Amino acid sequence: MKLASRMAKIKPSPTLAITAKAQALRAQGRNIIGFGAGEPDFDTPDNIKAAAVDAIRRGFTKYTPVGGTDELKDAIRAKLKRDNGLEYDRSEIVVSCGAKHTLFNLLQVLFEEGDEVLIPSPCWVSYPDMVLLSGATPVILETKESEGFKADPGLLRSKIGAKTRAIILNSPSNPTGAAYTREELSALASVILEGKIIVISDDIYEKIVYDGFQFADIASVRPDLRPFTVVVNGVSKSYSMTGWRIGYAAGDREIISAVTGFQSQNTSNPTSISQAAAVEALNGDQSSLGIMVEEFRRRRDFMVEGLDGIPGMSCLRPQGAFYAFPNIAGLIGRSKGGRAIRGSGDLAEYLLDEVDVAVVPGLPFGSDSHIRLSYATSMANIQEGLKRIKHAISLLK
Ligand SMILES: *Cc1c(COP(=O)(O)O)cnc(C)c1O
Repeated sequence: MKLASRMAKIKPSPTLAITAKAQALRAQGRNIIGFGAGEPDFDTPDNIKAAAVDAIRRGFTKYTPVGGTDELKDAIRAKLKRDNGLEYDRSEIVVSCGAKHTLFNLLQVLFEEGDEVLIPSPCWVSYPDMVLLSGATPVILETKESEGFKADPGLLRSKIGAKTRAIILNSPSNPTGAAYTREELSALASVILEGKIIVISDDIYEKIVYDGFQFADIASVRPDLRPFTVVVNGVSKSYSMTGWRIGYAAGDREIISAVTGFQSQNTSNPTSISQAAAVEALNGDQSSLGIMVEEFRRRRDFMVEGLDGIPGMSCLRPQGAFYAFPNIAGLIGRSKGGRAIRGSGDLAEYLLDEVDVAVVPGLPFGSDSHIRLSYATSMANIQEGLKRIKHAISLLK
């Protein structure tokens, strides 16, 4: 069958692929420890579930306005004001089927052939492919591990050219956990304003930060950037609601109206029941969040210390999200019984075959000398998994 040529531009999400492979091995009866998860292992809080059940009972099960209900838009507006110091009208908000969908629609309405979109790397695997699907060209800004995997304003300035339309910022970052301070955002904002480009700020991990880190949004740090910023967020990560598919964007009215129009010809509204649940997530009791973040912090400390102590590996301490991103450069070139580790993919395969541990190769995130491990899994799994990894690596000569 002849498929459209745009399909040749993209690859299926590799994080979902490793999860599927681990699941298939589990089905064969193997005791796999999975560090691939891109979602919290906590249950959706009960108050949120109750709001959804109530929505079903009262028959709130029909189409809603394409861009989301007024009630949810108002909950999002209140959240953005309260948490981020950003004020928006209803007409400046659109709700979609997950932040991934929001981003996809946003890139579709903003960019086309000939445009360039800057992406600091290592980055979430979907950004480059989504940019390609819009017709634009992703331009990678390589960050340095020695600089905490954060984009350098000088490097940013050097990459902005006549075709540059936007930069996608993700703080805290998936996969590195790097999070930008107000000062760092302010320095980037000056370059962005000079370059007259748009910022797409993916704030999905905003609530999952550690050690007293103060999350800031670039548009609140530099209000003059607000007209050129589109804030993207959602309830998936903060409220363990990955399956509910609610994400949103806030920004310039013309852009938001275009996203709503585009959405009217693909999904129409996000699920009515999920929207009712998201209202409760944003307006209701926030105590589950604190409990989850404290547990993630405990696991992060244990995992980072464990990985950092393995000869040949080193691991920065992430400031947010729920991933460790250890450097494996010291293992490259080693081998066991003729099986050589030439990069992150080889190491991930080796760990899965040798000790039944699933990790995600760093290559699709932009670094072949790192792997990504999610600590959105139990402490018992982390302890056992680290023990196995340590053993497997000790066998490499
Ligand atoms: C998980 C994730 C998203 C999207 O999540 P949704 O479930 O689609 O809301 C967006 N950006 C990053 C960096 C993520 O890790």
